[in-house]
Amino acid sequence: MSDLRDATLVSPAEPGQTESLNVHIVLERVSKIYEAGARPTVALQDTSLRIGRGEFVSIVGPSGCGKSTLMKMIAGLHLPSSGRITVGGRLVAGPVTDIGIVFQAPVLLEWRTILDNVLVQIELRGLPKNAYRDRALQLLDSVGLRDFADRYPDELSGGMRQRAAIVRALIHEPPLLLMDEPFGALDALTREQMRLDLEDLWLSKPMTVVFVTHSVDEAILLSDRVVVMSPRPGQVERIIDIDIPRPRGLEARRHPVFEEATQLVTDIFLNRGILQSGGFSGKNASLIQGPAR
Ligand code: ADP
Repeated sequence: MSDLRDATLVSPAEPGQTESLNVHIVLERVSKIYEAGARPTVALQDTSLRIGRGEFVSIVGPSGCGKSTLMKMIAGLHLPSSGRITVGGRLVAGPVTDIGIVFQAPVLLEWRTILDNVLVQIELRGLPKNAYRDRALQLLDSVGLRDFADRYPDELSGGMRQRAAIVRALIHEPPLLLMDEPFGALDALTREQMRLDLEDLWLSKPMTVVFVTHSVDEAILLSDRVVVMSPRPGQVERIIDIDIPRPRGLEARRHPVFEEATQLVTDIFLNRGILQSGGFSGKNASLIQGPAR
C-alpha cells in the first residue's frame, strides 16, 4: 500500500478543461453560504474534488461540516454560492434526474406494497411501470426482499425498509447513487450486513457511489477513497486511498490498511480537535464508532 500519510489532495479541475471520460463528478472551488437567519452560515468553503466513474467514495467529517450540503449540491437540489459542479460533464444548474438518492430515513408510502413503492420512482418519471416490474422483482430478490414484494412497509424491519429504499433508488439504473447516512438508523449487526450487501450490489452493477457516513469504519470498509472533511466551514482535509481487495468480507477489519486508515482519520480528528485524546466518550464518539443506538 502507498503511504497513507502521503496521500495527496485531488487537484481542482481547471475551468473549461475537458474532462476525461473516467471522471464522473467534478467540484471546482465550490462554496455554499446559507443566507437564512440573522447570520449567514458558510457550510462549505472552496471545496474541490473529482470522483471517477464507477468509484465508491465516502465522505466523513464532524456534524455540520457540510456533507449533506455537498450531496444536495451534487444532486442539484441546492446550488453553490460560488464555484461549479459538473456531473457526467454537464454543469449542475438544477435537479439532476439521472441519479438515485438514499437518505437515512427510508421514506416509504405506507399504503403501497413494497413493489409499488419501488415502482413509484418509475411512475414519477413517466416511464412504463410494467416494463420495470421484472427488474424491480429481480432487484428485490438481490437484497433478500423477493418474498416481501407484496407486503406493506409496516410489516418490514428497519433494515428491510432501507433495502427497499435502495432498490427504489436503483430501479431506473442510474449511473450515480448518492447515499446520505443510509445506515445511520440501523442497529450494529444490520448495519454490518447492509455494508456487505451494498458492496455486493455495487460489484454486480457498475455505478458511482458517493456515501456520507459518521462511521469511519463503514467509510473505510466500503470505499475506494475516503474524503475527510474539516469542521465547518467544510473543506476537503485529506483523501485516503483504501487499497483493500474486494469483496471485503468481515475479515477486512483485520487488514493492515484498515488499521492504518482508521489511525490516520483518528489523527486528523485529534489534530482538528474533533476528537479529544483520552477517550471517545464525548459528543464526537459517533465519528469512530457510529452513532449511538
Ligand atoms: P453535515 O451533513 O456535515 O452535518 P450540513 O450540510 O447538514 O452538514 O450542514 C452544514 C451547515 O449548514 C450547518 O451549520 C447547518 O446548520 C447549515 N445548513 C444546512 N442546511 C441549511 C439550510 N437549508 N439553511 C440554512 N442553513 C443550513
